Amino acid sequence: MAYINENFLKLKAGYLFPEIARRVSSFQQQNPGQAARLIRCGIGDVTEALPAAAIKAMHEGVDELADRSTFKGYGPEQGYAFLREAIADNQYAGLGIAADEIFISDGSKCDTGNILDIFGKGNRIAITDPVYPVYVDTNVMAGNTGEADESGAYSGLTYLPCNASNGFVAVPPVEKVDIIYLCFPNNPTGAVASREQLTAWVNYALANDSIILFDSAYEAFIQDENLPRSIFEIPGAHRCAMEFRSFSKHGGFTGVRCAYTVIPKALVGCTSEGEKIPLHQLWSRRHSTKFNGASYPVQKAAAALFTSEGKQQVAELITHYMGNAALLREACLGVGLPVYGGENAPYVWVGCPPGTSSWEMFDKMLQQALVVITPGSGFGAGGEGWFRISAFNSRSNVEEVCRRITAMFPPHD
Ligand SMILES: *Cc1c(COP(=O)(O)O)cnc(C)c1O
Repeated sequence: MAYINENFLKLKAGYLFPEIARRVSSFQQQNPGQAARLIRCGIGDVTEALPAAAIKAMHEGVDELADRSTFKGYGPEQGYAFLREAIADNQYAGLGIAADEIFISDGSKCDTGNILDIFGKGNRIAITDPVYPVYVDTNVMAGNTGEADESGAYSGLTYLPCNASNGFVAVPPVEKVDIIYLCFPNNPTGAVASREQLTAWVNYALANDSIILFDSAYEAFIQDENLPRSIFEIPGAHRCAMEFRSFSKHGGFTGVRCAYTVIPKALVGCTSEGEKIPLHQLWSRRHSTKFNGASYPVQKAAAALFTSEGKQQVAELITHYMGNAALLREACLGVGLPVYGGENAPYVWVGCPPGTSSWEMFDKMLQQALVVITPGSGFGAGGEGWFRISAFNSRSNVEEVCRRITAMFPPHD
């Protein structure tokens, strides 16, 4: 009999989104008359059509494949030069990132999970609490943790608490860690680290020989020009960080699939003998061996987001979603709930009324407002007492959600 990877058995069974789906479908069965009025602000998925420039480029890409003289088979595993160069020029201008330090892929979820292939055993890993669950679960699968306790916390991980007192931006730990996952703008809290806060992280990483895995999937939503969009805006980051970015939220590509990972050539890890090895070389080898590139029409579509029409259309999409976020913030503040995020991120992070847990709030919103939100405790014990509302929706749905939230908390004097 073949042995299995027993680390999978350590994973907590009740994963967040299946549990949300279960509660929603049971509510629908019990209230068939109301099912049509349900508004989903739970899963972080975009809702609007692709930018026209991307659609046109994708069509052109398909037409090229349809003709023998312009046909393309396997592309370069690391991505086509036209896309790597467009990213270097548009996303990293002046930041000292070369096109060949950018690796194109089919998603950041995959990249943030697959990156563990190039790291050895025994690393001390730090993650924030609450957190995007992918970082935790992929470390569990890779055998980098022990078992989970009652609260869902795994032994062997260093949890960095994020709460109202630190504005949901984790501070560097006192102890030494080897790998740190940071995500700004943050999913789920919508928090963004300031330049000073990120500088503290880079200085910590340089002092402790740690590596920061920086997920900036929501970079395009930053409105405040003083906030850093890339970790590579911070001096020294090229020696201690890699960055994950995706077209999923930037261009509404969640169903198209295209992302990239930036690994500076100066970034090194070490062997057990202490020999320093560039991570760029290992990720390149990993990509060539286990990945055969993102599809050509998709890379064409991604590159089209950097044309002048593409940039204009992306800006309109972002303006739409951020307008939604502003309305949701206003409605929640208006009923007296504590509100974070939603200013530089498409997620609004809201405190539950005193004495109400995240899942109790989920049920209340479902039953009283017919609105599906995401319970904060699903992102880690630190999210208990909070919930996330996604701004990915139509304007009319968001306006209706705001009316229902306002009606749920009638003013009293
Ligand atoms: C949506 C999201 C991504 C993007 O994942 P893809 O696989 O590229 O769609 C990455 N990180 C976070 C935190 C996200 O919320």
